[in-house]
Amino acid sequence: MLYRLRNADFTVRVFEAGDGVGGTWYWNRYPGARCDVESMEYSYSFSEELQQEWEWTERYATQPEILRYLNHVADRFDLRPDIQLQTPVVCADYDEGSALWTVGLGDGSTVTARFVIMATGCLSQARVPSFPGLEAYRGRTYHTGDWPADGVDVSGLRVGIIGTGSSGVQVIPLVAQEAAATVVFQRTPNFTMPARNAPLTVEKIAAIKADYAKLREQARWSGNGTLRVNYDEPAATAPPELIQQRYEAGWAFGGNDIVGSFNDLTTEQMSNDTLAGFLRGKIRQIVRDSQTSQTLTAQDYPVGAKRMCLGTDYYETFNRENVRLVDLRGEPIKDFTPQGIRTSAAEYPLEAVIFATGFDAMTGAILRVDIHGRGGRSLRDDWAGGPHTYLGLASAGFPNLFFITGPGSPSVLSNVVVSIEQHVEWIGEHIEYLRKRDLASTEPEVEAQEQWVAHVNDTAARTLMMKAASWYLGANVPGKPRVFMPYLGGVGNYRRICDEVTAADYRGFATG
Ligand code: NAP
Repeated sequence: MLYRLRNADFTVRVFEAGDGVGGTWYWNRYPGARCDVESMEYSYSFSEELQQEWEWTERYATQPEILRYLNHVADRFDLRPDIQLQTPVVCADYDEGSALWTVGLGDGSTVTARFVIMATGCLSQARVPSFPGLEAYRGRTYHTGDWPADGVDVSGLRVGIIGTGSSGVQVIPLVAQEAAATVVFQRTPNFTMPARNAPLTVEKIAAIKADYAKLREQARWSGNGTLRVNYDEPAATAPPELIQQRYEAGWAFGGNDIVGSFNDLTTEQMSNDTLAGFLRGKIRQIVRDSQTSQTLTAQDYPVGAKRMCLGTDYYETFNRENVRLVDLRGEPIKDFTPQGIRTSAAEYPLEAVIFATGFDAMTGAILRVDIHGRGGRSLRDDWAGGPHTYLGLASAGFPNLFFITGPGSPSVLSNVVVSIEQHVEWIGEHIEYLRKRDLASTEPEVEAQEQWVAHVNDTAARTLMMKAASWYLGANVPGKPRVFMPYLGGVGNYRRICDEVTAADYRGFATG
């Protein structure tokens, strides 16, 4: 966004809480952290030179490699002079008279700006649940999303890990290799596909680079922003042999392409059940202990309704002598003691506890900033019942405030780099449009916004996504309203809608 606006001759300043660039890839430094979208796709396309120059080394890049890449981008495009690190933004107030925002920074200083763009990320507000007794616990504690930069040595320790989402699935196998004992506290079992990560071959890299323009365009108009093959036929009427063959091929290929095996897996429960059954069969084949296997296969929601995880030796790890799985559904956590964790059935002495407990997703990082718009109205109040945006880009009553991959856009249901680039382009173009016409402000019309919110909800209601207590719905944060936040219509359709809004002179936006 900085690069896009700077190239259009705007004065731009970026404020960043961390002491380095990289966002999610700066904070999530836990062992095993790796992207679940293939590297050659999970990278910027805005510069042909950049995409030709950079050499990814693995099918799925590790956190250190992605962080190196983002630092390279910052250097290559000379972005650092306009990025102010170690500067949290605490508030933003809009003044109607001047049509300017006053942004309050952590050190008490303020800056004024015509436009404020929240590039705060969807999964950046780490969340530690409030367990009774936690403050009296004498061991060490870590959150995967706020991992110490110089690493953590768990060798020889008894380590507890709470949470088995994407972060837990990645960190558990690596901690198990180092720790004396690893106790995994699972509330809801996930569906984990083998990543089948491997080094990228010179031939593969060359083939993609030779065809990059076409492949990037294909991803932009796809369902989820990747090059995944999506078969256009339902499992409901497919012969059992074809179902088995596709799932076996998906399992062997690794990654989450398996959900593209049929076109009704996200909408028809019975079709989804065929995939769930297949995956449970694979888990049972891997995990030797029958009780552990049962606990790992007790999913009570459709595949994909909670985000599918990619793992490397995840299920295999539960065959290790030093790993124990605790089923929190059978024995919930009562409290922390000074020595460890106490469930309703036992006390587990632990020298360190890792919280892989996720984030206040999609709205958490936006609402952490105390934002007041027209007439002093508060964004926190406006979104108390769930986020209200037009296209996930802006909210009525908050002129000249934009969200990159905000709630109501495909965001977390897509290859997020594709979605980020689309928002950056759209916002950049809109701001240039305003400047050209000498317009001081823009904001969604209430009617257009409410129609969009209804459309986002209707789209989700037609799928199986509402059948899980997921973070997509805010269900992981006690008290958070249960509203399906990302847009499920697909990145290609969404891009078309945004382009139409632009072509229709920003239909649904009031400018003045
Ligand atoms: P998450 O998916 O929200 O998982 C949090 C885990 O903690 C869940 O198993 C949850 O159980 C558990 N938990 C939360 N509160 C708990 C409590 N009070 N008691 C016991 N267990 C509790 O968080 P995440 O694993 O950090 O992943 C979040 C998202 O970040 C992912 O879905 C993905 O989009 C992204 N991510 C991606 C990658 C990757 O690219 N490979 C890696 C990490 C994260 P319940 O399910 O029962 O709530």
